[in-house]
Parts: sequence; C-alpha cells; structure tokens
Amino acid sequence: MGSIDSNLETPESPDVIIIGGGISGCGAAWYLHKQGRSSMILEASDRVGGKTYSVADAYSEAGYIDLGASWVNDTTQKYINALIEELGLERLEQDVDGLAIAQRPDGSFFTHGYHDSVKASDEDFGLFFAKFHDVVESINTDDVASTPFATTLDSLTVLQWAQKTFPNRPGLPKRVDLYVRALSGADPAQASMLYLAHYVACAGGIKSASGDEKGDAQYQRLIDGTQNISKQMLARLQGQGGKNTILLNHAVDTIFQQDGTVTVTTKNGQRFSVKKVIITIPPVLWTSIQWSPPLPETKALISDRLTMPAYSKIVFTFSHAWWRPRCSGTVFFFDGPIQFVRETSVPAKRCWTLTCFATGKKGFDWGSQSKQARRQSAWDTLASAFVGFVDKKPVPDPVSVHEMLWERQEYIWGAPSASWPPGMLGHGLQKDLKAAHHNVHFAGSETASAFKGYMEGGLQAANRAVQEIVQN
Ligand SMILES: Cc1cc2nc3c(=O)[nH]c(=O)nc-3n(C[C@H](O)[C@H](O)[C@H](O)COP(=O)(O)OP(=O)(O)OC[C@H]3O[C@@H](n4cnc5c(N)ncnc54)[C@H](O)[C@@H]3O)c2cc1C
Repeated sequence: MGSIDSNLETPESPDVIIIGGGISGCGAAWYLHKQGRSSMILEASDRVGGKTYSVADAYSEAGYIDLGASWVNDTTQKYINALIEELGLERLEQDVDGLAIAQRPDGSFFTHGYHDSVKASDEDFGLFFAKFHDVVESINTDDVASTPFATTLDSLTVLQWAQKTFPNRPGLPKRVDLYVRALSGADPAQASMLYLAHYVACAGGIKSASGDEKGDAQYQRLIDGTQNISKQMLARLQGQGGKNTILLNHAVDTIFQQDGTVTVTTKNGQRFSVKKVIITIPPVLWTSIQWSPPLPETKALISDRLTMPAYSKIVFTFSHAWWRPRCSGTVFFFDGPIQFVRETSVPAKRCWTLTCFATGKKGFDWGSQSKQARRQSAWDTLASAFVGFVDKKPVPDPVSVHEMLWERQEYIWGAPSASWPPGMLGHGLQKDLKAAHHNVHFAGSETASAFKGYMEGGLQAANRAVQEIVQN
C-alpha cells in the first residue's frame, strides 16, 4: 500500500484548501489536479481515509480488513469504478455461495438459499417491501422535495409510515427496525420516511442497496482494502513534485471570509489564506467550526438536526473458513447486540473473516460496554447462530479480533452517513446542503445526489465541488 508523508513540502499558496482527508477530500485533490489546480488537505486525525479504514491482519498473508466501508460495484458507481481502474487496484467479488442464516422474531434460526428472498417467506416483510418499493420508485433523487407527496412522507418517521400503512401488523415494527438499521444505521422511530426512501433511491433502489449481485452496491470489495483508494490517490499526487500536500493532525476550527479571501485556522494555531476552500467533513460537524460570516441559517439547521447513527464493526478472523461450504457466512439477527454478519474473507491472502455489524441504538449500547464484554457478547451471538448448521461443534474460536466504534471517533461521530429527521428534506433543504457559502464549496458523501452516504457519493460530490470552482 502507498505511504503518505504528512508535511511534505507545502506549496507556497495552493489554489484550493480542502478540509477533511476522507475519500471525498482526497478525491477533490485528485479532480483538482486533473484540472491543473494545486491543493492542500487539512485533516484533523492522524490518518487519511476517514470512514474507510483498512488494518493489516497479522494472521493472514498480508491481508487487510476493512473496519469502515467495504463494498463497491463496477456498474452503477461510475466515479469509484473509474478511480479503481485508474489506480490499478485489485477487486474480488463478494462470495455468495452457500446458505444464509436468519433469525425468526421468536429467536430461533433457520437457513435459506442465499438468493431466496426473505420477503417470500415472511408476509410482513413482503407487504412492507411491496409498498416501500413504490415509494422508492417515486423519488426524484436530484430534487427530493419535488417527489409526489414529499411533505407527507417527510412528516412521518419510517416507523410511523409503516404503522399507518399497515395498522394491523404487530410484527412489522421489529422487521422494519432490522431492515432500516442494517441498511443505514438509522433508527426508524426517528428517521424521516422521505429520507430513507431517498437514501435507497440514490443507491439505485431496494435491490441494489441491499444486494450483492452485479450492479448491486455490495458486489465487490478491494483486496487491499478501501482506505488504499485515498492512500494511492495521495501517493500519486505527492509524486507530482510537492505541489499537492496533506497536513495530518490539523483540525480546522475557524473559517473567516473577507474580500474574496478565505482564511482557515487550525486548532494547533496554523493559518492559511486562499481564494477557494472545499469542505468535506460530515455535515453534523459543520457547526463545530466557527464561521465568519456565519453559516446560512439552513446550513446551520442541517448541521444541528442531522444525526450520525452507530454503525460499528467487529471482525473475527479464523485459521480457516469453517462455515463453508454449507454456509455463506451471512446471518441476520432480530435480537442481540449485532444485527448482521457478512463473510469478508480474502482467499488470495488466506484471510478468513466474518464481519459483524452493531447498528443504531442497540449498536450504541453494545459499544458502551467494556471491550471484553462487547467482544464476548458479539462472539456468543455469532457462534449461537451457526450451531446446528455447520459440522464443527463448538464453532472454532477466532484467532484475532478487530473492531471500530465509529460513533466514538472525535471527527466522525458515527456511520455510515447522516440521518435526517422529519420536516427537513421535504421542505427543500437538499439544495441548501450542497450550496456554496461564498468561496467555501461543500462536498462529502452526504451532499451527493447519487449514492449519498457511500464512497461513490463522496467522489461524485468532490467532482461537483471541483466543477463549481473551475467553472466559476
Ligand atoms: C462501518 C461502515 C461501513 C460502510 N460500508 C460502506 C460500503 O460498503 N460501501 C460504501 O460505499 N460506503 C460505505 N460506508 C460509507 C462510506 O465509508 C462513507 O460514505 C465515505 O467514506 C464518506 O467519505 P467522506 O470523505 O465524505 O467523509 P469522511 O470519511 O467522514 O471524511 C471526512 C474527514 O474529515 C475529517 N474532519 C472532520 N472534522 C474536521 C476538521 N474540523 N478539520 C479537518 N478535518 C476534519 C475527518 O477526520 C475525516 O477524515 C461505510 C461506512 C462505515 C463506517
């Protein structure tokens, strides 16, 4: 993997300062360079990649484990696909052979063919998805407020919508809770129905958002992990002779604009003045910065009212893939601290892993326990699901464990992306999200109109912000 030198020769005065060194910030530097503009990224933490974070696994043959984003596709995600091609990064397809395990609402487990739709065997799920599909199809992704019935959809939480649409289905809330948290981390009792439908529509619809076949959002992973995308972009930019720079451990705390100049100050007392800034930090953090002139009221409202869900990963690595060939490694839980498990092995590196996701309020509570308690409870939950479905009894212990609690990261606050409460998106606030504030342009995955909340969205938004600057 490429290495990043912080504090490489700082350009005298870069054309653009980029705030945030996640995939959107690194992408902005990449697209600016293609337009002949230099940049300096100011990143608060001690690494690049933001919500992509790939750690080396000592027990494999130089394998990497993604503790943040994992999946991409090569069909509908045009920005990330082009970048992966250009950087020459190796991919592998998500292995979907074998059975999936699912929990029934009463706590027992059953298996089903990986591609057999759970909707077909569960009436509540079937009803919900049929109606939800119609809503998703009606969404105008570019201008969500012009969607038919936008304000009605945005006046309800997802849970309220489900209960209103299916008043005599007492089993529905539990299913809606599982689906919404697995997909977005958001709490269906708090997230706007319009937000959820827009999130899914931006990801290409229900099948794409949840599926892992060609064209779906979970089709492929990268052999060396997704953080390598940002690392490789920067390594190549820095190879261009020091014109493009990143300063790690430089958290921005004030943005002052006057007479066409933007002055950015960092917590460690450094000050930089440029004509243009691209800010890529999550919207919930915008108001952690002091702005002069102040942020427009609508942007401040967005920053204050959006929330970042808990969406943590705990990854167990093994000496071999003991769940195969019978099981795929996929498990869904109604109860318990983790909501779902996916196999994330990289056979080429003999890296055998099952990744557990702890999401929403339950995920937050799980993350509040001691390290030992949360590892034990995640492991007990995982192991219990396989009993009776694999030959090994008990299932083999892991050889190592990696975890990441995103909601506890000072400059991230949660994952995979911000969730909207009712009463905002339906009133046209989508356009305020990405609108420039004088010479500060807004990127970051949440501001995208396609795959918002995904890596692809981070790159799309970065490209849009760069175009705003270049065409200005
Ligand atoms: C567990 C998990 C699973 C996911 N799964 C997928 C997936 O499979 N596929 C997919 O496409 N996406 C997935 N995502 C979402 C994806 O990771 C994000 O949408 C994307 O990485 C966001 O990139 P970004 O650059 O917009 O924001 P971020 O990655 O949040 O980057 C923002 C950067 O800004 C920095 N920052 C914050 N405040 C300041 C400040 N004041 N000054 C300077 N710097 C600051 C932060 O440190 C951070 O590095 C997942 C995320 C998580 C955590």
